[in-house]
Amino acid sequence: MKKNYMLTLLFLVFGTLCSFGQTVYSSQKGEKYHTADCKLSGDANAVALADAKKSGKSACGVCKPDEWVKAKLTQCDGKTKDGTQCKRMTANSNKKCYQHQSK
Ligand SMILES: [Zn+2]
Ligand SMILES: [Zn+2]
Repeated sequence: MKKNYMLTLLFLVFGTLCSFGQTVYSSQKGEKYHTADCKLSGDANAVALADAKKSGKSACGVCKPDEWVKAKLTQCDGKTKDGTQCKRMTANSNKKCYQHQSK
């Protein structure tokens, strides 16, 4: 039985790693899920976006976690000094990280 437990644990860890970057926040009773910095998230726990949807929760209209998750996955359009694409991820709509943001 101990082996099964270890497998489950491993599975959980991998599951968490795979959903990294798609974590939203939701309280047990709440009907909505939020971004980490949403004012309305209250005593929310981190949950995978897929799990939040599975349990019938909908996106908060204030922090718009769906757009936030998508934005999180956008790689910066800027170029580094050696001419390769910047590897920073950015939530900015112009696809530029804070370093490549034109001032
Ligand atoms: Zn929210
Ligand atoms: Zn950049």
